Amino acid sequence: MKEIILCKYGEIVLKGLNRGHFENLLEQDMRKRLKKVGSYHVTRAQSTLYIEPLDDFSDIEDAIRCAKKVFGFVSISRACVCEKNMDSILAAAKEYLPPLLAGAKTFKAEAKRSDKTFALKSPEISALTGGAVLEVMPRLKVDVNHPDVTVRVEIRETAAYIHAGAEKGAGGIPAGCAGKAMLLLSGGIDSPVAGYMMAKRGCTLEAVHFESFPYTSERAREKVLELAKLVSEYSGKIRVHVISLTKIQETLVKTCEEEYFTLLLRRFMMRLATKTARQVGAEALITGESLGQVASQTLQAIGTTDAVTDIPVFRPLIGMDKEEIIQIARKIDTFETSILPYEDCCTVFTPKHPKTKPELCKVEAEEAKLDVAALEAEAMLTMTTHTFALY
Ligand code: ATP
Ligand code: MG
Repeated sequence: MKEIILCKYGEIVLKGLNRGHFENLLEQDMRKRLKKVGSYHVTRAQSTLYIEPLDDFSDIEDAIRCAKKVFGFVSISRACVCEKNMDSILAAAKEYLPPLLAGAKTFKAEAKRSDKTFALKSPEISALTGGAVLEVMPRLKVDVNHPDVTVRVEIRETAAYIHAGAEKGAGGIPAGCAGKAMLLLSGGIDSPVAGYMMAKRGCTLEAVHFESFPYTSERAREKVLELAKLVSEYSGKIRVHVISLTKIQETLVKTCEEEYFTLLLRRFMMRLATKTARQVGAEALITGESLGQVASQTLQAIGTTDAVTDIPVFRPLIGMDKEEIIQIARKIDTFETSILPYEDCCTVFTPKHPKTKPELCKVEAEEAKLDVAALEAEAMLTMTTHTFALY
C-alpha cells in the first residue's frame, strides 16, 4: 500500500499574484531538507506539497520530522494513496486504518471532495467509509461530536487519500520571504524564542552575541551557539557573530554611575548590533524583551536603548508573559538549554539599584564621559563568526 505525506499550506493560500514565489520558497526549503535524509519525490497541487519516499532507505517518519519544522505548512498528514473509485477507497480503508484506530473507542469518517466530478458527494463517501471501518472493527462506535479519531478521505485531482488525522505544522510563512534581521541572542529563555517567532514570519536570521570573557565563560558561549543551532533547525542557516564587551564593561564600571551600568551597556549592544546588521545587510534588529520583565525593559528604558539605533527593532515577546514564552521555548526545544546555569554579560557588574525610569538626557550625560566611538571600534575588532546551516 502506497503511503505519502500531505503537507498543507497555511497563510500563503491567501497570497495574491506572488503566491507562486512563496510556494517556490516553501518547496525549495522542503526539498533541501529532504535531501539530507533520503530520496523523496516531491510534487505540489491544490495548496498541498506531496512527499513520497522513493526507496526503502528513505523513511517516511524522517520526512515528517523535517516537514514539521518548515514554516508555511499548517498540517502534516501521513496518508495512503488509492485510485479514485469507491471500491479502491473502501478496500484501502479496511486495510490501512485498523492499526491507526487500534487504541480508539470512537471515530468518525469525514470526506472532502475537491474533485467535484467524483460520482458521490462527501456525506455519501463518509458514510460508506465509516461502514467499511465498522465491518473490520465492529467494536468501534461512531461519535460525530467528540470522536477519538477522525478518519479522512480526500478526493483530489489525481488520486484519493485516506488518513487518520493530521499533525500540526509549524505555521508561519516560508523562510526567507521577509528579508534579513539581526537577532540579539543571549543564553536566556527569551531571545531564542524571539528569533524563532520572527523566522516564522519569514525573516532570515543572523545573530549577534555579546560576551565578557573572563567574566563569562567558554561554556556560556557554547550554550548560546547550541541555542542558535536549535533555532536554525526551523529558520535555516544562522550566522552568529560573537563580540566581546569586556573592555566596554570594565570602562563603564570605572567611569559611570552604577545605576546606569545596564542601560549604558544595552545602548552599546544596540549600536554594535546595528553596525553588525549594516555589515551583513540585515534591515532590522530583534530582541527578546518583554515589557516590564526586568528594570531594563520598562517603557522608559526601552526608549533610551531604541534612541541609539535608526533601524526597526522588533520585540515579538513584548506583550507576552514569561509562562507563555516558556511554553514556546519548550515546544521548540530550546528551554532545557536556556536554563543551564551559565552567566551572561548582563549579569556581571549589575547595579544594585538600576534606574527603572531613566531620562534620556541623563543617560546621555553619563555616556558623554566615555569615548563611545573608540570603544565600539575596538569591540567590533573582537568579532568572531560561527555558522549553523541545515543544508
Ligand atoms: P533572555 O532570556 O533572552 O536572556 P532576559 O529576560 O534575560 O532575556 P535581558 O538580559 O534584559 O533579558 O536581555 C534582553 C534582551 O537583550 C535579550 O532578550 C536579548 O535579545 C538581548 N541580550 C541580552 N544579553 C545579551 C547578550 N549577551 N548578547 C546578545 N543579546 C543580548
Ligand atoms: Mg538575558
